[in-house]
Amino acid sequence: MQNRLFDVVIVGGGITGTSLAYTLAKYTDIKSIAVLEKYGSLAPLNTNARSNSQTLHCGDIETNYTLEKAIQVKRTANMLVRYAEQIDKNDFLFKYPKMILAVGEAECDRLQKRYEAFKEAFPYMELWDADKIAEVEPNVALVDGKPRPEKILASGCTDEYSAVNYGVLSKSFIENARKTGKNIRVSLSSKVDRILAFKDHYELQTAHGTYLAKFVVVSAGAHSLLIANQLGHGMNLSTLPMAGSFYFTPTKLNGKVYTMQNDKLPFAALHGDPDLTEPKKTRLGPTALVLPKLERYTGGTYIDFWNTLKLDRKVLKVFWDLLKDATIRNYIFRNFLFEIPWLNKRLFVKDARKILPGLKVEEISYAEGYGGVRPQVIDKTTQELKLGEASIVPENENIIYNMTPSPGATTCLGNAYRDAKIICQRLNKTLYQTRLIDDLLDGKDL
Ligand SMILES: Cc1cc2nc3c(=O)[nH]c(=O)nc-3n(C[C@H](O)[C@H](O)[C@H](O)COP(=O)(O)OP(=O)(O)OC[C@H]3O[C@@H](n4cnc5c(N)ncnc54)[C@H](O)[C@@H]3O)c2cc1C
Repeated sequence: MQNRLFDVVIVGGGITGTSLAYTLAKYTDIKSIAVLEKYGSLAPLNTNARSNSQTLHCGDIETNYTLEKAIQVKRTANMLVRYAEQIDKNDFLFKYPKMILAVGEAECDRLQKRYEAFKEAFPYMELWDADKIAEVEPNVALVDGKPRPEKILASGCTDEYSAVNYGVLSKSFIENARKTGKNIRVSLSSKVDRILAFKDHYELQTAHGTYLAKFVVVSAGAHSLLIANQLGHGMNLSTLPMAGSFYFTPTKLNGKVYTMQNDKLPFAALHGDPDLTEPKKTRLGPTALVLPKLERYTGGTYIDFWNTLKLDRKVLKVFWDLLKDATIRNYIFRNFLFEIPWLNKRLFVKDARKILPGLKVEEISYAEGYGGVRPQVIDKTTQELKLGEASIVPENENIIYNMTPSPGATTCLGNAYRDAKIICQRLNKTLYQTRLIDDLLDGKDL
């Protein structure tokens, strides 16, 4: 009988769970760590390259971020770059040109102002006119060899890391955690059915037996809240799963092209990206669609959705507040139509022409099997939809629950560092903080 008592057991083998396993192995004196993953491989769901946009969000091309948030995201994104530089093999982080594209006078004015405000924090970002855009991305600036009619302006760069295969990165984290020589157990096809809390440990029940842990971190994506609720935690929160779909077109972009975000719309604006898994294709999207299930493309999870939504007057009020705004209402409706065969391509192509003005309906196809779910959290106490990540850290208990919508993959090492501090403090273990800050944060703490 193998020893199933671990210092830390992590539920979920996505980027959040695997980055924490690495951080604990490399930067603490914790000796044994288990990662329990429900499916038969690491990163099968949202972390998989098919599910997300594969972007290293640095705050430079995301116009929905304030300067403060952009600087903070950049610092955690940079932790991944430092990680990639220090390990033997980088097969997950890539450089592509990237830009924010403004179309029309009003957007160009907004972008010009944003560029001025952000240039000190992002000195590598340049302001590009239509000619320069045509040099970097001809299909964005030209239609049939002639300049597109609307005024365009971009802020971009050509020599920065911008794309990540987060699924491959998850595997890299586990490989490098194992190189520390510590006891790192990864159990695949091990769905945690139940967690029981005892005075000095937890029991995690799976079909293959029970695991014991001094500390548990639940990084189970949209299922984290369901598990938290089973232990009586996070009862004031609900999960709203926002699915995102993509469309393919044969390669038309050399790099990432993001559009200006409408402040009223809480979900990502359309962008175009070279696809890391389909080298001859450009991916356009994501769309944003509320789905009554917690996982895309796997059977079931409808009941889990209702159990985490916990529909009541407060949740309905949040929906009502969203829907009473005409911009949001139209956006939700339009995104619903993007899923209806035949009609979807004809509607989507109109939006996609903001990026590729010469795009034709017959040049795009719905990317079947692509696109994951962002577990957006509704706070019932404040009656608002939270746009960023959410964690539940019950006081004086050795358990953490993480819900990580975008940009949760980019910020994985920052989140892991945050969790590692709590774990070490509560288990009375040592965090090698100076080493971590030197290795991953250029000597300056977050
Ligand atoms: C359309 C879209 C585009 C996105 N684009 C980007 C982007 O460009 N850049 C970026 O940084 N982020 C992006 N994101 C967000 C990013 O994908 C997520 O933040 C990230 O993948 C979350 O990782 P995770 O490990 O927390 O969750 P997941 O990857 O979902 O992993 C959770 C794991 O827990 C497992 N699990 C669940 N329940 C159990 C259980 N009971 N027992 C055991 N295991 C369990 C699941 O099988 C799963 O493997 C995007 C998301 C979407 C949907």
